[in-house]
Amino acid sequence: MTNKHSERRVVVIGGGIVGASIAWRIAARGQRVTLIDKGEPGSGASSHSFAWINAGAKEPIGYHNLNRRSLEMWPRFATALGEDVGLRWGGKVSWETDPVAAEQLQARVQQLQSWGYPSRQVSAQELAELEPALEIGPVVAAEYSENEGQVEPQMVVDACIRRMSELESLILTGAEVIDFDRDADGGIRAVQTDSGDFEADTVVLAAGTDTTTLAAMSNVYIPQAESPGVVIRTTPLPPLLHNVPVVYAPPLGDGRREIHLRQCADGRFMIGEGDQESLAEDDTQSHADDLLSRAAQYLPGLAEAKAIPVPVGWRPMPLDGYPTLGYTTETPNLYIALTHSGVTLAPVISQLAALEICEDVRADAVLTPYRPERFATLTEEQVAEMAHPRAGHR
Ligand SMILES: Cc1cc2nc3c(=O)[nH]c(=O)nc-3n(C[C@H](O)[C@H](O)[C@H](O)COP(=O)(O)OP(=O)(O)OC[C@H]3O[C@@H](n4cnc5c(N)ncnc54)[C@H](O)[C@@H]3O)c2cc1C
Repeated sequence: MTNKHSERRVVVIGGGIVGASIAWRIAARGQRVTLIDKGEPGSGASSHSFAWINAGAKEPIGYHNLNRRSLEMWPRFATALGEDVGLRWGGKVSWETDPVAAEQLQARVQQLQSWGYPSRQVSAQELAELEPALEIGPVVAAEYSENEGQVEPQMVVDACIRRMSELESLILTGAEVIDFDRDADGGIRAVQTDSGDFEADTVVLAAGTDTTTLAAMSNVYIPQAESPGVVIRTTPLPPLLHNVPVVYAPPLGDGRREIHLRQCADGRFMIGEGDQESLAEDDTQSHADDLLSRAAQYLPGLAEAKAIPVPVGWRPMPLDGYPTLGYTTETPNLYIALTHSGVTLAPVISQLAALEICEDVRADAVLTPYRPERFATLTEEQVAEMAHPRAGHR
């Protein structure tokens, strides 16, 4: 179906889950889309992601609601993609053995319930019944969020690209964007790559951690926090978790942090420690072995697997931790799409970006807190305050 904007040439920079989702949505609306990635699509942060779809770990309520809206969109988004993307529901369990941590868990559940979120406290017995494969050990408080799930980012990216190819979009891999050709008003005329120039009416910048550098080439300030994370993988195993795909297990009382684990569609497990914003840079084999042995204490079937270390993944992380979405004042046809939790948020972010770009409207009622210009007015002091590694990431 064509519409009044069908001649618009849209160049999307970055083929991670965010860029690929936006590019596909725009192509599906009849625009001429070119998707450019300097490597293989999906190989950036998206390949390191734990890929847990949730809104329970998100504050304040406006940001929680954005994540929740996206979570609820995932089944339709996946259906529209028309192939299996590894979407699996069944919820997330977590439990605590330390009384202070248990109180925090209980308070969090109460807050989520006051927001109408389907999180609830469960007894140790119910926890064991929910996921019989787990060796739970002592429990002071436990929680189950029944609506959460997981997906495989690479399968999502591949599906977006296949659908785009059917729509005759141009997909360029191994082509690095190196500059912008700009007109007198600051707008981008063409995106310059090491494989040639691409004329554009609209440019979507979804280059993950590289967004800051590329935006600066167009006089736009998009600061990020450095946010390294490590999630290891294992060799494949038969299905171990039968009911609940995402597990957060407490520290083993040795001063190390809690661990999280899930089983991927190919049978491999992903295991990380801390929460979704914890900073981690140990990507050695011995650390991977340690994570696996800790996880195996909760899920004995894991003892059959070998740990495969994964290099540090850098989370795209706007300085205040919240999504950055929309056109920029300095470069009117440059649209920024940078976010943490991009796996959870891909359906809603891609829907809103495609709406704004294809219909020439502004979804301000939802996106005002997340506009790129919020960074333009920051003083140096405010930047320094925000720049604490974990400041405001929720
Ligand atoms: C360890 C870890 C755990 C995470 N866990 C979760 C989770 O459980 N749930 C969740 O929702 N989110 C999670 N996230 C966050 C989520 O994975 C990211 O928000 C999401 O993957 C970001 O996708 P993206 O497309 O913006 O970036 P990326 O996947 O990094 O894609 C950006 C792309 O841009 C390309 N690019 C960069 N520069 C250029 C250039 N100059 N020219 C051309 N192409 C360029 C890159 O090659 C890359 O493919 C996690 C992230 C990490 C690292």
